[in-house]
Amino acid sequence: MNVLVINCGSSSVKYQVVDVASGAAVAKGKAERIGDGRSHKDALSELLPEIKEHDIQAVGHRVVHGGDSFHDATQITDEVIKAIEACVPLAPLHNPANLAGIAAAREAFPSVPHVAVFDTAFHVRMPRRARTYAIDQELAEKHGIRRYGFHGPSHSYVAKLAADHLGQPLDELRLITCHLGNGASICAIENGKSVETSMGMTPLEGLVMGTRSGDIDPGVVLLLARELGVDGADKALNKQSGLAGLSGLGNDLRDILSAAAEGNDRARLAVSTFAHRVRKYIGAYAAALGGVDAVIMTGGIGENSAEMRRRILQRLGFLGLRIDEDKNGDARVSHDDAVQDVSSGTARVKTLVVATNEELMIAKQSARVVSGGKDVKSPRAIPIAVSARHLHLDRKTMDILFGEGSELSVYREISQPGQFAAEQKVNLIGPRGRIDGVRVLGPLRPGVQVEVSRTDEFRLGVDAPIRDSGKVKGSAPITLEGPKGTVHMEEGLICARRHIHMTPEDAEHFGVKDKDEVEIAITGGPRDLVFGDVLVRVKSSYKLEMHIDTDEANAAELSRGAVGDLVYTAAPGEAAAKLRKRRGS
Ligand code: ADP
Repeated sequence: MNVLVINCGSSSVKYQVVDVASGAAVAKGKAERIGDGRSHKDALSELLPEIKEHDIQAVGHRVVHGGDSFHDATQITDEVIKAIEACVPLAPLHNPANLAGIAAAREAFPSVPHVAVFDTAFHVRMPRRARTYAIDQELAEKHGIRRYGFHGPSHSYVAKLAADHLGQPLDELRLITCHLGNGASICAIENGKSVETSMGMTPLEGLVMGTRSGDIDPGVVLLLARELGVDGADKALNKQSGLAGLSGLGNDLRDILSAAAEGNDRARLAVSTFAHRVRKYIGAYAAALGGVDAVIMTGGIGENSAEMRRRILQRLGFLGLRIDEDKNGDARVSHDDAVQDVSSGTARVKTLVVATNEELMIAKQSARVVSGGKDVKSPRAIPIAVSARHLHLDRKTMDILFGEGSELSVYREISQPGQFAAEQKVNLIGPRGRIDGVRVLGPLRPGVQVEVSRTDEFRLGVDAPIRDSGKVKGSAPITLEGPKGTVHMEEGLICARRHIHMTPEDAEHFGVKDKDEVEIAITGGPRDLVFGDVLVRVKSSYKLEMHIDTDEANAAELSRGAVGDLVYTAAPGEAAAKLRKRRGS
């Protein structure tokens, strides 16, 4: 499939025709000098004759800001255009240019599908703690002020190539990807997902860039705005800072490196400030990830400047990261030979130089969307069911409590297929107190399991351990009283561990596996809450649903129809190690 990839900037239109099957760019070009009466449409019309030599089956548009609305590449409709327009205040330079490109291209190619691929989409699901700015949250909500992150196609693309190169599944790796070009950002990727990134609400935050300052005390912004006016401050920070502002020599690192080598002090300051900032972020992200398996260098600087890589990666040996000077000096990457390992033999953490290819990523994502690929990951809310105290019975106990050969009768079906709430109820008797009328859930099971909340166990006077369903060995004792008899159980009482039932398709959609431990955020209610330690249970007969008990539901003040969002997945080993520790085994 040939996909036309369009990247509209404020002053230029760039295009590539990408053959998705081979990954090759079969044509590319650029039209510049937009403005002063020359529009994006004029620029595109100029390029059209050469583009139309190819059979275009889809058009992929790079769109810088998708706000909270877009979690993935999306086929463009009038509604999608409205949503992109709504993000203009967040990206006043980029989104209008992207929209102009979309309008011109839809006119030129009216009969093929157009797809928007967002810079922000890869980061949209970052954990709340990483995406939130510590300001008044009402103000934040009102203006959409949060960390969105950019360069998503590049970070996700190089992470995938790195995983392939390392021969390990992406969802078992902790990666730090450094996209160092004219614009620069760094991303912490855990299990294939962005969990932190340095660009924020706009592409101005984070690393030192060609002409952008990156991180700065907000007090400086206020001072500049007072001295230069808002537009002046904007220009100073976006256009006259970064490598250009530091060096006074423009934004091309090659010029700055040669001036630095000749002893130009401002050039040396620019080089060392740039490197220091990236190094600082690598350390911070290693901490945020709780360790790191590989660091990836990409973008014009990351791919081409051995000197900058060396400066950035020096003295990171304490992380297990060591580069081989010769390999680093010799590394040359290209689209055809995209990955080079520059780590030394003793490095525990790999350093890879990877050639990014944002156009290919945009083309691939567009192709996937138009061919209705099933790995399209749109956001999906997880319905929450609140389990009141209940119990499961086995044949033997049923006989004693309700009479020989008695059967459970259906009171009503419950959400998990095949399960039901029974007419039958049982009284629980503990050393301190009793709870009458606890409903039995059917059908009968091989063992007895009584599930109560923390409040219930206090009433009964027993300490129930938190357990996964089915794991009752060594759990708390309880006496069951039925209409026909009483049974004392030495074990069987548990406080159920919160969990999510899902099908293998759901698991694939969320990028999780059976027994993974995730965080689920409840937002938009009166008491937002993030539940940690939520166990994922995958089976094809399950229906997507999170189960929590009444205490947990009360803590979040959940009402009927509540849903949660999966915000974080623990690394596989991490979840298991934590559980073992908790159980003291
Ligand atoms: P953009 O963000 O515009 O896509 P690029 O990823 O193309 O930017 O990166 C441009 C930057 O890469 C420039 O600062 C340029 O100086 C730098 N660069 C390219 N090649 C080299 C090189 N061999 N040595 C040092 N810097 C380089």
